[in-house]
Amino acid sequence: MNTIAVVGAGIVGLAVAKSLAGRGHRVQLHDPGPPGEGTSFGNAGLIANYATSPMASIDTLKQLPRELSRRDASLSVDPRYLARLVGFGPRFLKAATPSCFARHKSDLVALIRDSVKAQHRLLESLQAPDLYADTGCLQLARRGDPLAVTLEASARAKRADGVACQALAVEEVRDLEPELDRAELVGGLYFPATRHLKDSLAVSRALWRRLEGDGVALHHSRVERLVPLASGGWRLIDEAGEHQVDQLVLCAGIANDGLLRSLGVTLPVVSERGYHVRLETPLALSRPVGWMAHHFYATPMHGGVRLAGTTEFTAPDRAADQRRWERLQGWGEALFGRSLSLAERWMGVRHSTPDGLPVVGRVPGREGLLVAYGHGHLGLTQSAHTGELIAAMIAGETLPDYAQALSPQRF
Ligand SMILES: Cc1cc2nc3c(=O)[nH]c(=O)nc-3n(C[C@H](O)[C@H](O)[C@H](O)COP(=O)(O)OP(=O)(O)OC[C@H]3O[C@@H](n4cnc5c(N)ncnc54)[C@H](O)[C@@H]3O)c2cc1C
Repeated sequence: MNTIAVVGAGIVGLAVAKSLAGRGHRVQLHDPGPPGEGTSFGNAGLIANYATSPMASIDTLKQLPRELSRRDASLSVDPRYLARLVGFGPRFLKAATPSCFARHKSDLVALIRDSVKAQHRLLESLQAPDLYADTGCLQLARRGDPLAVTLEASARAKRADGVACQALAVEEVRDLEPELDRAELVGGLYFPATRHLKDSLAVSRALWRRLEGDGVALHHSRVERLVPLASGGWRLIDEAGEHQVDQLVLCAGIANDGLLRSLGVTLPVVSERGYHVRLETPLALSRPVGWMAHHFYATPMHGGVRLAGTTEFTAPDRAADQRRWERLQGWGEALFGRSLSLAERWMGVRHSTPDGLPVVGRVPGREGLLVAYGHGHLGLTQSAHTGELIAAMIAGETLPDYAQALSPQRF
């Protein structure tokens, strides 16, 4: 039996630990904080079956000048962070070329299909049906949004990717969600098969309780150094002491960066921060809804509706920009046609790759070291399948064709 250390107990690390423990490995988790309280705490909660298009595309590049010049832009790039984007920017441009985009899209379509199935299985295995809902989601077009005139074509394109999707007129949208205000609304896309979480943290906690019951150990400490052993295996040094293990899986989100750099490994995974606010104002919402133009969602969760989104390329440890919470509030107020009061403000760090595919696999030249991060906007959706892929890699099993496209070796 192998002893495997999983560094990071976010939703990705927890899912990796679950798959490995399920294969009979001795698994130990390492995290200075309680499970699920990093980025996994604050997401929009969507199991995003519709997310079949990589961000790096000609369309994104065309929209970039307009987006960056908006007063209420969702996207921002901190000039102080540009040096860290040197490895990311040119690769993003290359990934946007039609041939690369087509390849990444075909990998992403297959990855999302397998990920959604795996995530549904994982959620069902927790036997806590109160933690999620299968009510679909709505992406809405706002007055002045160029996407408003292409709703039918967008719905057809999603169906071609194997995703159930319907273009809806204003009244059809309001039949589904009467709380929405008609003033800014011009129609939307309905994804009836999308599942969403009602409490992201409760899901991580339920998963951790399951792992604890299966004998997985949690070391409450920050891993500071990784040392390869001449005899094989790794020494892992944390604040409390040392641990010797056979294999290591790094799932520490953006903190993987520092751990890998200390081993001389650099990958173009960058910090893309996102924000949420939880509303105090009660709203009767049945499913996640959001403006397409702003890439944000209002998700009904336990404790109130959560407005989540925005994209900020900046250092992970910079102070939060409070204008982003105001922006989310403003988009929410346009959605519901009323002023909203806030109960909670949160900011977290996505770890994003230039081609929109996560980094899941063995680190070349470092025997027994694997990574699982770079999931960008889709880490919740892809976590269970990431765990399955890591377990299959360690077992030396045949992998799906797209696994090659996820390997750290591609950089
Ligand atoms: C606003 C927003 C909305 C989002 N919405 C969605 C969505 O609707 N659907 C979706 O699929 N995805 C969504 N995401 C993305 C998703 O939340 C992330 O991809 C996912 O949570 C990443 O999980 P993780 O386990 O990799 O990272 P984290 O949850 O950050 O976990 C990493 C863990 O590593 C630990 N750690 C760090 N350093 C060390 C160290 N040195 N030693 C030990 N442990 C360490 C941390 O304490 C943390 O617990 C969203 C993200 C944001 C920000």
